[in-house]
Amino acid sequence: MEIAAYLLVNHIASDPQVSVSNAVMYAVLKPIVFGVFFVAMMGLFAHSVWRMFRLMALGQSRSNPIKDITDRIGAVIYLVFFQRKVVKEKFGWNHVIFFWGFLIITVGHIEFLVRGVVPSFSLSFLGDGLYHLILAGEDFMAFVVLFAVVAALFRRLVLRPSHIHYDSKEGYLILSLIAMVMITYFGAMGFAIAGKDPFVTSHAKAITVSNTVASFFVGMNVKLAYVLSEIFWWSHAVVLLTFLNVIPKSKHIHLLGAIPNIFLHKREKHKAALSRLDFEDENAESFGVGKVNDFSWKTLLDTYACTECGRCNKYCPATRTGKALNPQKLIHDIRGNLYLNGDKLLADRGLFEVTAAPADWEPEVPLIAETEEGRMKGVQTSREVLGACTNCGACVEACPVLIDHVDAIVDLRRYLTLTEGAVSAEWNNTFTNIERNYNPWGIGADKRADWAQSLGLRYWGGSEDAGKYEFLFWVGCAGSFDITAQKSVRALADILDAGGITYAILGQNEQCTGDPARRGGNEYLFDALAQTNVATLNDLGVKKIVTACPHCFNTLKNEYPAFGGDYEVLHHSQLISQLLEEGRLDVDVGTLSKVTFHDPCFLGRWNDETKAPRRSLAAVKRLQVVEMEDHGRKSLCCGAGGAQMWKEEEPGDVRVNIVRSQQAIDTGAQAVAVGCPFCKTMIGDGLKHHGNEDMPVLDIAEVVAGALTPGARAKIEAARQATTNNG
Ligand code: SF4
Ligand code: SF4
Repeated sequence: MEIAAYLLVNHIASDPQVSVSNAVMYAVLKPIVFGVFFVAMMGLFAHSVWRMFRLMALGQSRSNPIKDITDRIGAVIYLVFFQRKVVKEKFGWNHVIFFWGFLIITVGHIEFLVRGVVPSFSLSFLGDGLYHLILAGEDFMAFVVLFAVVAALFRRLVLRPSHIHYDSKEGYLILSLIAMVMITYFGAMGFAIAGKDPFVTSHAKAITVSNTVASFFVGMNVKLAYVLSEIFWWSHAVVLLTFLNVIPKSKHIHLLGAIPNIFLHKREKHKAALSRLDFEDENAESFGVGKVNDFSWKTLLDTYACTECGRCNKYCPATRTGKALNPQKLIHDIRGNLYLNGDKLLADRGLFEVTAAPADWEPEVPLIAETEEGRMKGVQTSREVLGACTNCGACVEACPVLIDHVDAIVDLRRYLTLTEGAVSAEWNNTFTNIERNYNPWGIGADKRADWAQSLGLRYWGGSEDAGKYEFLFWVGCAGSFDITAQKSVRALADILDAGGITYAILGQNEQCTGDPARRGGNEYLFDALAQTNVATLNDLGVKKIVTACPHCFNTLKNEYPAFGGDYEVLHHSQLISQLLEEGRLDVDVGTLSKVTFHDPCFLGRWNDETKAPRRSLAAVKRLQVVEMEDHGRKSLCCGAGGAQMWKEEEPGDVRVNIVRSQQAIDTGAQAVAVGCPFCKTMIGDGLKHHGNEDMPVLDIAEVVAGALTPGARAKIEAARQATTNNG
């Protein structure tokens, strides 16, 4: 009746043509009409959210329990409320404004919505101080959000960064709706003040922006101002509740998906490991993900969390070099496929039925198209897309809502490889080589230790050696068979001896860790290799491992624990850096004066080790280390990971190693330092392509070993002599 009283005092009394009954009727009808509209719009919204939930539930359940609750809450606070990943990028602050703006405006709008149904409601019971703070915050943020809309439009229309897709009209619709929410708010408030609405004018001092808007209407006919304020009030209500219903059906679905996705994210300690498949499961009819419901519900939740920020595309080496792979699109294609097929399945179910899709369900549209040209955009991915991923993790690293693109890609590759047998001839050949000779080159397994024969290295022969050697030196296939990589492992052997480390190699007992097989989707082969290697290492009593290959490092450290292999594993740069720090390695001036370091993805990004390689290089006297445009955790892949080393790159504009090696040349460095045998090959090939074959590519171990003092060299000789003497 508050409205009726206001109408009586301010308008009806001064205008005999407005009857008391009309005023009372409006006062009575407004809450009823708004109440019905509100309930209908909220019902529509709830229905959309319920559909999202039911579609997500079509996925497979995850066996791992949700632990580390406190850390998970911390991640939500850090990433959602503090937007820590978002602000690292240009324009990130604009998103922060949107996020906090909407959060604060939502609190203020509780009063707006409840007053629509119960006109006497007010949040003033919270106390004047807090109440006015809420009103002031709401008012101010609505103003700031309007600026953020203008900035976003400027970015879309003028700056147009290449990693964001501007073709869709949806982005403009969303920005228009946001702008209309704010404009109608100021219209409703400004005219209410001009129309002397007693409720709004009573706290007009708190809402300074609305007060300023009202000042433009000073002297306006009070009745007209009142009518306009009501028109804006209704417009605001309609736009606001329409926007709410656009959320689950647009890119703003992330407002619903991001927080649960971040809370349920793959914990840091497991992020670099892929999941193990259960080959003992006799009921399994296929392996990997061939249908959208083969994904876990968590991967389907990932697709709801995407903000379409395009950061994954910006850093993806495949996207950057014009391949068909675009990680953001891949996530959206999975979601599109879920919607298209899932909706049809749900149509035959009761509204409240929430279960996984039946095992024999055949979705109408397959998830993976055979060719890129033949794929239905928006609902399918293709073999070419999946084949282009280097597993570099740049997408995962960049994603502000912790989406696991790589897990999804490898799950899909597993299906192609294990269930369909649809792998490239090159990968097939690689897998056969590994099966027969336990290395991807297919060189005789009996030749694995040939490189070490002239060096007089020690072999870890049995469990009794566990007391003799501190470290197992895991050489890896490249170090064992590739001539370029052999230079790196020889240099590392020198450093270990110079540093007084007791170590041995496995010789022919070492087999490929299985990384190329796993990343190429041949989980079965990886499983067999992992079990054999873990059995060997455990039988020998190995506790500490050092390796010069980041792929072996990652597999041994992060993936073998799922097979019962728990070891302390160090990348050689970590051990070198440690030896230098402890004063156990004497280095002087080397032959180089200026190098740039290329971070291997499986060291820098997946295992967060960017300092040890730089510390090791910095120990060489008078050696300057300069950075490439992309470095550290944001480094650009060399193009070899994800089993790409073993096949031709998918079609694109340019090869990844050509872009990366150009970045190295641009630094003006004399040489490129690497920490991975595959990076060494790729960067070397890239430099040749640019006509810079004279620019050396050296492993960190080679750079450091090249600067060892005569005293350190004498220690190497002594260690080798001792081995020879001991037979
Ligand atoms: S892992 Fe690397 S190559 Fe694969 S999608 Fe992500 S960024 Fe692209
Ligand atoms: S997947 Fe992540 S990084 Fe890529 S567009 Fe979506 S939110 Fe951004």
